[in-house]
Formats: sequence, C-alpha cells, structure tokens
Amino acid sequence: MAEITLPYTPIEDIPKIHARARAAFRAGRTKDVAFRKAQIAQVGYMLKDNEEAVIAAMKHDLGRPPLESEMMDLSPVYAEVRAAYANLDQWVKPQAAEFSLNFFAMGPKLVAEPKGTVLIIAPFNFPAFLLFSPLVSAIAAGNAAVLKPSEQTPAISKIFAELLPKYLDPELYHIINGGVPETTKILELPWDHILYTGNGRVGRIVATAAARHLTPTTLELGGKNPVVIDPRVDLDLAARRILWGRFTNAGQICLSPDYVLVPADFQDKFVAALESMYKTFYPDGPEKSDSFSRVVTKAHTQRIKRLVDETTGTIVCGGQSDVETRYIAPTIVRDVREGDSLLSEEIFGPVLCIVPVKDVDEAVAFINRGDHPLAIYVFSEDPKFEQKVFSNTKSGAAVTNEVVIMPGVHGLPVGGVGASGYGYYTGKHAFEQFTHLRVSLKNPSWVDKIAFGFRFPPYTPSYRKNMRQMGGRLPPRPAGGLAKAAPKRWAFWLAFALVGAAAVLTRQRQLRLA
Ligand code: NAD
Repeated sequence: MAEITLPYTPIEDIPKIHARARAAFRAGRTKDVAFRKAQIAQVGYMLKDNEEAVIAAMKHDLGRPPLESEMMDLSPVYAEVRAAYANLDQWVKPQAAEFSLNFFAMGPKLVAEPKGTVLIIAPFNFPAFLLFSPLVSAIAAGNAAVLKPSEQTPAISKIFAELLPKYLDPELYHIINGGVPETTKILELPWDHILYTGNGRVGRIVATAAARHLTPTTLELGGKNPVVIDPRVDLDLAARRILWGRFTNAGQICLSPDYVLVPADFQDKFVAALESMYKTFYPDGPEKSDSFSRVVTKAHTQRIKRLVDETTGTIVCGGQSDVETRYIAPTIVRDVREGDSLLSEEIFGPVLCIVPVKDVDEAVAFINRGDHPLAIYVFSEDPKFEQKVFSNTKSGAAVTNEVVIMPGVHGLPVGGVGASGYGYYTGKHAFEQFTHLRVSLKNPSWVDKIAFGFRFPPYTPSYRKNMRQMGGRLPPRPAGGLAKAAPKRWAFWLAFALVGAAAVLTRQRQLRLA
C-alpha cells in the first residue's frame, strides 16, 4: 500500500477558520430551512458521487472490504440525510408549552434555534458515519460546523477535506486536519457545542477544554461491551451474530461485543459452536479472506498483539499477527479470568474473550465491577434471564439476541452512560444536541388586569391571597409516608409519657416513705 500523507491545516489558520465560520453563521444564511435542506442533501451527494474513491480510501486506511464500508459507513449517512431532509420541517416547528390556564394567553412556546458554530471531532473507525452523521444533524439544526476527522486515516481525511468545499457552503462548513497540536489549538477556541467521538482519555481532555468556555459537549466514548449467554440459547444464532459483531471492521467498533460471560459448564459447547462458525466465515483462513479488515495503524496492531501475547487464557482460534501489514487474526480466547490482559482495557480489535462464570448472578456482578458499557448484550429466549441482566445493570443500550446494529435502527439514538459518554447522536436526538430551545412568550397588557396584577407594589394582603389561589394545591399527601412517620412520633411521645409517669410515681413513693 502506497503511503499517503495527510496535509495538516497550518496551526495559525485555525483561529481564522473559526472566525470565518462564526461570521458566516452570524450572516444568517442558516436561518432558512430550505437552505439547510439543500446542504443536507449535498452531504449525501458528496459521498454518492465519489463513492468508489471514498471506498478505495477506506480500503487503503482500514483494509476494509467494500461491503462493510458501504453497509456500515456510507449507508448510515445516507439514512441520516434522508431522515433529516424528510423531517426537518417538523423538527423546527415551535413547540407549544403544556396548557396552563394561568399562562396560555401569553402563547408560551419553545423555539428550536441553532447553537451557533459547532465542532465535531471524529475517530478513525467509521470515518464517514462518525463525521457526517453529526454534520447532517448540525446543519439541520442551523449551525455552522467545523469538522476534525481522524489523522489515523490519512487517505480518507484527505479526500474529505478536498470534497467538502466542493459540495457545501465553504464559509459555513470547514474541515481541519491534523493531530494533537492542531486539535489542542482547536480546543482553545470558544465553540457553541462540541460533539466528540473517541476514547475516554481524550474525551476528558475535550470536556476539560470545553469547560473553560462553558461549552456544552456530547461525548460518545467506548468501553468493554459484555455478552451474557443463557445456556438454553440458540447456539448457532448466537455464535454467528457474536462473531460477526466482533470481527467486522477487525473489531474496531465501539459497540462490538468485547467479552462473553458464559456458564463454566457450558463453555465447551459454546466454544465448539464458535469454532465451527469461524470456519464458515473464513474457509481459506482469514489472512487471505476478502471479508476481513486490517487494524488502522501499526501502533494499534502492536497494542492488540501485546494484549493477546500476555493473556493467560487459551487461544482456540487465530492468535497470529503481523505488525507490518497491520494484521491481527480474528482470535477467540477461552478461560479468560479477571485480571487478564484482555480484560484490562477496551480491546478494539478482532479478539473475543470467553469468561467462564458460575451463573447469571455472577455475570451481573462481573459487569457491575466495571464501568457502564455502551451496550450489554444478552443471548436468551427467556425474558426472566434477560430482565435479570438488564434490570441489575446500566448501559447505553440493552440488546437481546443481536449485536452492533443499533445505530442503523431508525429512531434509536446512540449514547453512552457514565464512562461510555453522555448525549446522543443520530436522527432527531442529534438534532436536539445541536439545538438551543429558546423560550418564548408574548404577554398582552390585559393579562395584568385579570391576573398577575398582584406582583406590582405596593403589596396588600389581598394580593397574597390572589397569588395563592393561582398557585393551586399540592398533590395529595402520601398515606404510606404518614403511616411510617406516625408510629415513630407516637412511640416518642408514648415513651416520654411513660418515663414521666414513672418519674412522678417514684417521687410520690419516695415522699410517702419519707
Ligand atoms: P482517534 O485516535 O482517531 O482519536 C479520535 C479523535 O481525537 C481524533 O480526531 C484525534 O485527532 C483526536 N485526538 C487524539 N488525541 C487528542 C488529544 N490529545 N487532544 C485532543 N484531541 C485528540 O480514535 P480513538 O479515540 O482511538 O477512537 C476509538 C475510540 O472511540 C474507542 O474507544 C471507541 O469505542 C470509541 N468510539 C465510540 C463511539 C460511540 O458512538 N460512542 C463510536 C466510535 C468510536
């Protein structure tokens, strides 16, 4: 593969790009919904017209099969374009506030306004989807946007920087390319919202930088997604879907299943099913397969290789690697125990660990000792098993008998909780991230004559009465709460009375004796 050098944006140009985007936003072009829709459509055509070149760049940077690029990187952007284009008129409609007799005359409503000039920082693993799906939402909400693609995918980031100004308004929408120094400079500037997708270490840097300007952020982070297996599961289905989710894009998927918690006495059976499925995926071996990607960089290949080399589990499939060609064989490791290298960090590579546990309770306890993941997967036909896992854990998504596909499901956003991030992307949920709901009302002068006149001094006792009448009553007092509180108070007074009576009787007795 020929090396491609990504031209970085000169650092001194970065504040100028920010200023240009801000000035273009203030010029007001994005107020027009028809303009936004045209720009949204252009995002689609930018990719559609150049699909082969983009897919070739993805092949270069990620060694990725064209089908995976089309299915998981480009098609989801087209879906976002279609959804935003079709629904924008509805999304931007002012929302009337809940009806209230006191306030309806003022016509209270919420108006969806753009936040301003927003920053979108994307990672390498789905370079089109994670850059342009938030861009579609940012445009839909009426913002100017600056995009920072990953420097780890030079061919892709280069082609995107060339295409963007040819298709979109070149004053409102910009790409800045670069590495840590460039991104550090970008983060010094005051943005109106930052949506960052990537690892949690950098997520913390982004959130800290944003805090200096009180910039709201959306953090789409990663983590380790567990799978919990019910031994009564459809084994073939579980094996096929789990292996697909782990090995697609060479495991570089934030929602990829990372480890499988399986009852210890079921491990042999489960692993046998995985092994036979593995053979059907790669009949001539994965290294020669056209259906298997490469790791993004030599550094990441080296990192994953180290995790595999240091495991104390047993490798049952794969295990081979070649750092020069960024190849890590799809690998299955069984008997992985707590404290293992493979459980020490998000693998983000094509390695699936099988962790034996006693039962579902131990599986739940295992999950709860870690950070809240982006997704928890359960393979089971038993709703009680499913609920045992989901109602005792927390995660961005709770999914049964499926993995990874959630970002493609219309109407479901992607978002983490705790260490896997906060906020959402895709569809209306992402539109809302980039929207400021501006409160609006218009109060006619006559309102003061029939209500609210009491707020003007000098205050009189009747004003206070009027005010209270408008406020209405509190909800009914909870009976259970009273019942609990009452015995305690009774018990206190009863004890007080008994001690008092005893003291009086004792004193009388003493006096009599005296
Ligand atoms: P990456 O290395 O491409 O970095 C992501 C972005 O952060 C890049 O644009 C990069 O330039 C920037 N960056 C790197 N170091 C920085 C620094 N010191 N200061 C400021 N910016 C910096 O990709 P990555 O972070 O390795 O991405 C993989 C991670 O992203 C995984 O943890 C994965 O789970 C997560 N991810 C999450 C989602 C989601 O939806 N929650 C989606 C995809 C990936």
